[in-house]
Amino acid sequence: MASSSSPPQPRQSPPPFAAQNPTAQGPGHGALPAAFSNLQISRGAAPPPGAPHGLTPQTAPPAFVPRPAPLAAARATFPGSPTAPPFVRAPTASAALSFGRSPAPAPQQPPPPFGGPPGAVSQLPPKFGGPPGAVSQSLPPFRGPPAAASQAPPPFGGPSAAASQAPPFGGPPGAGSQTLPFGGLAAMGSQPAPPLFGGPRPTFPGQPVASAAASSQPMPPSFGAPQQPPPPFGGPPQFGGLRSGVQQSFAAQSATISQQPPFMGPPRANAPAFGPRSWQSQGAGSGAMQPPIRMPGILGSMPPNTLGQGVPPPGTPTIPYSPHAGTQVSTPSKIDPNQIPWPMPEASVIIYETRQGGQATIPPAASSEFIVKDTGNCSPRLMRCTVNQVPCTGDLLTMSGMPLALMVQPFSLPHPSEEPIQLVDFGEIGPIRCSRCKAYINPFMRFVDQGRHFICNLCGFSNDTPRDYMCNLGPDGRRRDADDRPELCRGTVEFVATKEFLVRDPMPAVYFFLIDVSMNAIQTGATAAACSAIAQAISDLPEGPRTMVGIATFDSAIHFYSLKRSQQQPLMLIVPDVQDVYIPLQTALILPVSECWENLKQLLESIPDMFENNRVADSAFGAAMKAAFLAMKSTGGKLLVFQSVLPSLGVGSLSAREAEGRANITTGDKEAHKLLQPVDNTLKTMALEFAEYQVCVDVFLTTQSYVDIASISVVPHTTGGRVYYYYPFSALSDPAKLFNDLRWNISRPQGFEAVMRVRCSQGLQVQDYFGNFCKRVPTDIDLPAIDSDKTVMVTFKHDDKLQENSECGFQCALLYTNVYGQRRIRVINLSLSCTSMLSNLFRYADLETQFACFLKQAANGIPTSPLPRIREEATNTCINILQSYRKHCASVSSSGQLILPEALKLLPLYTLALTKSVGLRNDGRLDDRSYWMSHVSSISVLLAVPLVFPRLFPIHDLTSRADDDSLIPSPLMLNSENVREDGVYLLENGEDGLIYVGNMVDPTTLEQMFRVSSLAALPIQLVLEQFDNELSRKVNEVVNEIRRQRCSYLRLRLCRRGEPSGDYFRSFLIEDKVPVGFSYVEFLVHVHRQIQSKMT
Ligand SMILES: [Zn+2]
Repeated sequence: MASSSSPPQPRQSPPPFAAQNPTAQGPGHGALPAAFSNLQISRGAAPPPGAPHGLTPQTAPPAFVPRPAPLAAARATFPGSPTAPPFVRAPTASAALSFGRSPAPAPQQPPPPFGGPPGAVSQLPPKFGGPPGAVSQSLPPFRGPPAAASQAPPPFGGPSAAASQAPPFGGPPGAGSQTLPFGGLAAMGSQPAPPLFGGPRPTFPGQPVASAAASSQPMPPSFGAPQQPPPPFGGPPQFGGLRSGVQQSFAAQSATISQQPPFMGPPRANAPAFGPRSWQSQGAGSGAMQPPIRMPGILGSMPPNTLGQGVPPPGTPTIPYSPHAGTQVSTPSKIDPNQIPWPMPEASVIIYETRQGGQATIPPAASSEFIVKDTGNCSPRLMRCTVNQVPCTGDLLTMSGMPLALMVQPFSLPHPSEEPIQLVDFGEIGPIRCSRCKAYINPFMRFVDQGRHFICNLCGFSNDTPRDYMCNLGPDGRRRDADDRPELCRGTVEFVATKEFLVRDPMPAVYFFLIDVSMNAIQTGATAAACSAIAQAISDLPEGPRTMVGIATFDSAIHFYSLKRSQQQPLMLIVPDVQDVYIPLQTALILPVSECWENLKQLLESIPDMFENNRVADSAFGAAMKAAFLAMKSTGGKLLVFQSVLPSLGVGSLSAREAEGRANITTGDKEAHKLLQPVDNTLKTMALEFAEYQVCVDVFLTTQSYVDIASISVVPHTTGGRVYYYYPFSALSDPAKLFNDLRWNISRPQGFEAVMRVRCSQGLQVQDYFGNFCKRVPTDIDLPAIDSDKTVMVTFKHDDKLQENSECGFQCALLYTNVYGQRRIRVINLSLSCTSMLSNLFRYADLETQFACFLKQAANGIPTSPLPRIREEATNTCINILQSYRKHCASVSSSGQLILPEALKLLPLYTLALTKSVGLRNDGRLDDRSYWMSHVSSISVLLAVPLVFPRLFPIHDLTSRADDDSLIPSPLMLNSENVREDGVYLLENGEDGLIYVGNMVDPTTLEQMFRVSSLAALPIQLVLEQFDNELSRKVNEVVNEIRRQRCSYLRLRLCRRGEPSGDYFRSFLIEDKVPVGFSYVEFLVHVHRQIQSKMT
């Protein structure tokens, strides 16, 4: 066919910022259209009867005769696809509003491979983040979340006009009938399976081999300036002004790691360029001591039936230990709502220097907008601790009730105004390390003896300085070149990995798509949505000759496809044996994108039609994953699975446990939680093998029913992936989210075949790691893939005392391969003061990090403990912390007052929210809870709080609100009083967006927002479109801005009073009293009483 031999032009010259939706007509939209130009093709004839199939690779009948179309003129004409942009027709002006906070310095550059800020809403369709085109006017700075894309269902999937005459591609030859279902017919089973891949097993040593060369081998003479490898993420190699060239003797070179897209503009004032509008009230950031919050009056205002207990009446204000104490005392007779702690928005952008005056500074709240200057400690986005001063002893930590843990998010997106991470190349010798503990050189290693030795800040060992790394010390005792060397002055740097960090050549970026084509998947439109999403997202795969793709479909059998360009059309190869799977070919199942682009596009277009009449209801999910894994085994890579039903066949098949679970929960069965554990070890065993070969699995569950997420999620959990959940899947409203999720998945900053280790100062030791990874040895975790959204929690315990007046160091080293096949070591350092004063622990506590820790611990406990116990433990944790503060730091206060440490004053509110969360409340489906647990497992600090304590915005009055320069309004408190029946509200938790429409909403509002004239006409499935009126524009702006902040395409749902959807919405109003839970005020009273009873 004509196009198969033409160069894959779209990939070679991606339009810098073209809208990439097939229906786009903007400049440079040539990327996809060429690929989509097959739609109107007439299909080939049925395969000749008797065509070979079975073991022999089967040639599919010509699926279509691609019509050569000039690239420029090519236009997507998907069957069923609207020619007009389905939605999101955000006018340019509004797009600029939503995303235009960052000047785009380089609109002409090729799209940033990474971090490509998903986001731009072009007026053309979806293409989440589709940068281009829109850039000049609307460039999402970074944190490019999957923003705005289209909410309209992608066109795909409609039966094409040609379908009726087109034989299913690869249909069972010989069978004659074109309507026969696909799988199951192939005769492969009769022949011996080909041997499995015999590739060498890459065995990743848990940790990089120590760089012995650093000290014992003669130093190579000065290396001059080694060729600088291109920065991993395609950013311009900058130098950042460091290393002015004086230090050439050692040739340590630095370059910027542009994890961030090239555009780095100053954030617009007052407009948070990323991150949620802060609404953290803890006055962190200044480091100043904060007065405790006193809560007098709580008792006095309690309902009568909760009073009593012999508690003395609130006393007169007393002087707690803080010098600022007493400043917030109110009259005890009545609760002043203003004294109840609420999150308050942070007013402005904070410029945050990580160290000042030789000391760590307190990081701003994760939810505030801040710009980090790395002055020795890492950015808190990369790593932050539950406490900003480390207790000298384990006893002190225990006394505080607080956890000691780090949240590590090694690829978190920086603010666009932040300096990129520097790349340092030590040449063949590799990065300098402590010869005892193998810690990497960092700003806290102390050079002594005229620079001839350096003392490790973690283990205290005195190392010889490599001769070529020597430098004199200045009068301040620092090396004279310290400020010129990123590794000596920055908290985070990246080192070029030397051979000793390689056990094989760095792997290419491999993406394998596995699509469920069983009957349900086809009939619900899930298969079409998956194919459409992949077809559109492929153009966002990392550029480069080493990017490879493969694809397979499955029902009761597995269908591989060979996509070689030299073939006229894709070959289908069927594997019917789902108990003992194998791969039909040793090669050609995974090819460089450039070699199979056209064929892949064709295939994706035709899959929904090929299987249109599939009646096979079974789904061999586990077997299909295993088969895909075999194809990927020699390289590793990302396996993206689109699954729609409960896996029912072959290895790893599951049974419906839901009914059983529902009965157990309602009867209060003590064993109910066991249904939240994997049913057996089959998938876990499989996942461990995947991880060993660096295969990461992401599962997209587009389903209408129970699929046993508790069992399925083990695979992504163990391999560094995640579960995406679309329930109940809607072919109308979910394809846009599916596409946006997929696009962000493959375009965000990420690394492969990673190994991570966290080291800490002597006196502490790592206790455990939590997150999505595989752990084979106690000290390291293996991450077949890691990306900007993944966070790993690391807990610590004391094994000795830390010295007061010293600092405690933490160092995270992440060895990984970037998408360009370069091996790197990202080293993230944090050094904090040690303290023996309990009051300092409270003063320097980090609320959000602690809460993220409690959230993960709660989720972790769900499969092994009954829910009431989990809720009780969460509440007790909160009580213990506050009681410790009350007892040891505010003991002179009257017991009639609830006194909260300033830094943790929102802990009760968040704890209450946690006990009412989807994961911890009694009602709810098993799969919803399992999904929640799997999501929490790798959630970042930034998203932990909103997941349980969402934001609620009124959106009916967006046009009348005072313009305070922020795109989104201030959030409302989460109680029913704030939800009026004549209003429309948006509640978002980073995952879902619930739009509550009151019963008495002005019809004009309905007309403007949804283009319906009455409540009754509102559709159940929401596709939020933008219409030509101000209200509609603003609603879309708000939604898109939230998507950008969250790096997540919210799943929008309409909720109405009197329907289950309305009840669901109200379940998030966590300040309300509910049958099984306290109101916020009641909870404060409860906490207070518990503290009092512990005190007596
Ligand atoms: Zn050491």
